Amino acid sequence: MKQRLAILGSTGSIGVQTLDIVRENPDRFEAVTLTAHSNWERLAEQARAFDAAAAVIADERFYGPLRDALADTDIKVYAGQDAVAQVAAAGDTDVVVNALVGYAGLAPTVATLRAGKKLALANKESLVVGGEYVMRLAVEKQAPIVPIDSEHSAIFQCLVGERTPYRRLIITCSGGAFRDLRREELAHVTPEQALQHPQWQMGAKITIDSSTLVNKGFEVIEAHWLFDAPAERISVVMHPQSVIHSMVEFDDGAIKAQLGLPDMRMPISYALFFPERVRRPAEVFDFTAHPALTFGEVDRLKYPALDIAYDCLRRGGTAACTMNGANEVAVAAFLGHRCAWSDIVRAIEYALAHADFRSGPTLDDYAAADCESRRLAAELLKC
Ligand code: NDP
Ligand code: MG
Repeated sequence: MKQRLAILGSTGSIGVQTLDIVRENPDRFEAVTLTAHSNWERLAEQARAFDAAAAVIADERFYGPLRDALADTDIKVYAGQDAVAQVAAAGDTDVVVNALVGYAGLAPTVATLRAGKKLALANKESLVVGGEYVMRLAVEKQAPIVPIDSEHSAIFQCLVGERTPYRRLIITCSGGAFRDLRREELAHVTPEQALQHPQWQMGAKITIDSSTLVNKGFEVIEAHWLFDAPAERISVVMHPQSVIHSMVEFDDGAIKAQLGLPDMRMPISYALFFPERVRRPAEVFDFTAHPALTFGEVDRLKYPALDIAYDCLRRGGTAACTMNGANEVAVAAFLGHRCAWSDIVRAIEYALAHADFRSGPTLDDYAAADCESRRLAAELLKC
């Protein structure tokens, strides 16, 4: 039987690659629901090409153009942020792929799990912001979460079939756009430079997060929630080639790693087919083309965001939600040439120093912490 998918954020980098997997496997998947924020043209094209049942545009200003573009079809058209969460929970899909970016992914993650559906999760911010709430809900509803993020997919694959606990999760880190620059050279870097990721083609926000290592910090928090790992059992190692996607060390000293070319369609395919694997038209990996796999320490002075994320993880409560909100505001400001690259971490530190902290947060507490940290970051950056 075909699995019916809701792909939230179908017009983005992960969303488009998820549709590639659907295209490769027409007998296994149906893209029933597609959503976008504002790119109604691409959404309309996708909805037609995949004969979707529904298309949702989060920004209500684009409802009219989307409806008109699909007027000669029987595709249902909805608009609004709430509609994205509603279609995630709707009865006519089996699996929700959450490929939204940022805090906006939290409500659809919660709606998916409340409905007891399988969640293929790319939106790491859902777990960074609300991991405590989200994981409790997933257990209560027995709703499986399968990670799409490549490091977490790698760890997930290393853990399959293991019965004894691991000693350590080892997350690899490419180092982002500025890995070859010295700390003093970072003062005047531009968004255009930061958007040149050495290994992966991704959306703008995660590419900036990779340049500051906020992304790696978020991945530590994401690993904590997905694999129930305390902070001291998660380490990060620089691995510029990005061939090893991450590793798990076990109590007997054995280390399992998952390797491959940097191609997000592999972890997407794994998440959709799990527990099976499917043949993909991928290149055969040529070891001789990768004669050296190297490893190094992260420079914690150059990249303070990593330790800030570890601190947030140890504090729990709303700390990581505060980090995320300030980061979103600062990344948008940096992309708009309204602040410097180093202001991103400054905004995070400022928000964490001034925000209220709540332990055992409810969804309302996350919303309040997100709002407060956005206000604080905007205050600091004057934007
Ligand atoms: P993109 O920016 O490429 O795509 C984001 C998608 O979400 C787009 O469809 C966009 O619509 C939609 N969207 C953006 N904001 C909102 C909003 N406020 N409400 C509703 N929809 C919205 O992001 P990526 O695909 O790069 O990343 C998606 C997630 O996956 C992120 O959490 C990222 O960290 C994670 N991830 C991504 C990887 C990658 O290779 N790209 C790798 C690992 C993890 P529109 O097109 O209309 O703007
Ligand atoms: Mg990743």
